Amino acid sequence: PQKAKEYALVIHGGAGTITKANLKPNQERAYREKLTAVLEIGDQMLKEGKSSEEVVVRVISLMENSPLFNAGKGSVFNAEGKQDMDASIMRGDDLNCGAIAGVSNVKNPIKLARMVMDSSEHVFLARKGAEQFAQEMQLDIVDPDYFFDQKRYDRWKKLKDKEVLSEEEKHGTVGAVCLDKSGNLCAGTSTGGMTYKKWGRIGDSPVIGAGTYANNESCGVSSTGHGEFFIRAMVAHQIAAAMEYGDYTLEEAANLVIHEKLQHLGGTGGVIAMDKFGNVAMPFNTEGMYRGYVTSDSEPSVAIYK
Ligand code: ASP
Repeated sequence: PQKAKEYALVIHGGAGTITKANLKPNQERAYREKLTAVLEIGDQMLKEGKSSEEVVVRVISLMENSPLFNAGKGSVFNAEGKQDMDASIMRGDDLNCGAIAGVSNVKNPIKLARMVMDSSEHVFLARKGAEQFAQEMQLDIVDPDYFFDQKRYDRWKKLKDKEVLSEEEKHGTVGAVCLDKSGNLCAGTSTGGMTYKKWGRIGDSPVIGAGTYANNESCGVSSTGHGEFFIRAMVAHQIAAAMEYGDYTLEEAANLVIHEKLQHLGGTGGVIAMDKFGNVAMPFNTEGMYRGYVTSDSEPSVAIYK
């Protein structure tokens, strides 16, 4: 039998056409530094015995607060030129979960998803009702201008003017999967969705089973990519199901779903996944994915390209 790691944390900051050629050295440095700093904070918390749920919420909040990623501050703009966000979280011990969609004034959407999980009798809240719940839970409410980011706005403008954007420029997401010292897995995902999304579009990120899933019997997963395909392929749950009902290892299950199932549908993106032993898999079928992990027996390790 495998020896489990005492604890482990894996994070992502979105997948897409991220290549050395289109990322300037100073941008690359900024991403690497941010991902490393986030992993160091998570590592410290896990060492101190904090729960995987606390760590997932903390590290995702840190990425939401950074304009580098399409989540929280720096979210993409929808067709109406507004920013609205989706997030979800799930615990592997009791399969409790929480999800929110279409909120535009909650500073940290992942904290709201957690409140839905821990402090409501529901699983999925959207728009005005979700914002009202955030207020009742006394979460930080901000003016929608807080989320503004010039780079994302310029990309929205380009699409509006019918210019072509790369996949990478259109979307992005942040996510985390964590195993704590008590052996509990937790997974979370937060996003601004896709640039120029229309008609109240909601992607995979807040859909339990597509963008996020966690079960201590199999694994925890957070997805990033073209959400419509991730919903159709039920990516996160399919990975867990291959391990639970089939005899797949984490690596095999994650590769099967990304490189065969999603690939055959024509979907692009990737996942971060972790099993109950703290093993990590990070497959993607795009040029790059901002990603990194740390475990009780290894230093933070960060990567961007293939
Ligand atoms: N999956 C997200 C969505 O479709 C976007 C992304 O991860 O890049 O909303």
